[in-house]
Amino acid sequence: MASKFVPGDYILTPKRSSAGIGLFAGQDIPKGVCVIEYVGKEVPEADQYTNKSRYLFGIGEKRMVDGKPKINKAGYINHSCAANCEPEIYKGRIFIMSKKTIKKGEELTYDYGAEYFNDIILGDGGCKCAKCAVTGNGQKKRRA
Ligand SMILES: [Zn+2]
Repeated sequence: MASKFVPGDYILTPKRSSAGIGLFAGQDIPKGVCVIEYVGKEVPEADQYTNKSRYLFGIGEKRMVDGKPKINKAGYINHSCAANCEPEIYKGRIFIMSKKTIKKGEELTYDYGAEYFNDIILGDGGCKCAKCAVTGNGQKKRRA
């Protein structure tokens, strides 16, 4: 069971993308594997509403970590509405899993969820992910 959540030793490189710096696959990555762990410092409950970090990640009831890219390569992964990865929480830790086969050179993305999308992405003027950039649809609509 636990072996599913051991990050593979994949080559992952931060590079410029359509939405700032993103994290890119330096090799092919199969579907359904653990790509990388999202690591961060746990934020005390008292600070969770005042902390302005954009790298907060909820890991359960009243628990969150702050995964600034300086200490967390997975913090470079951008949001996408057509993501190729998805986070899974296991024993209070966050693992970024591949949802599909990822080709060398592709950007890694996961869906940040409705709350982040509505509060932060729309506040920034809309979604800049590859899917929204192409279709031009829906990137300024609130999500349920
Ligand atoms: Zn989008």
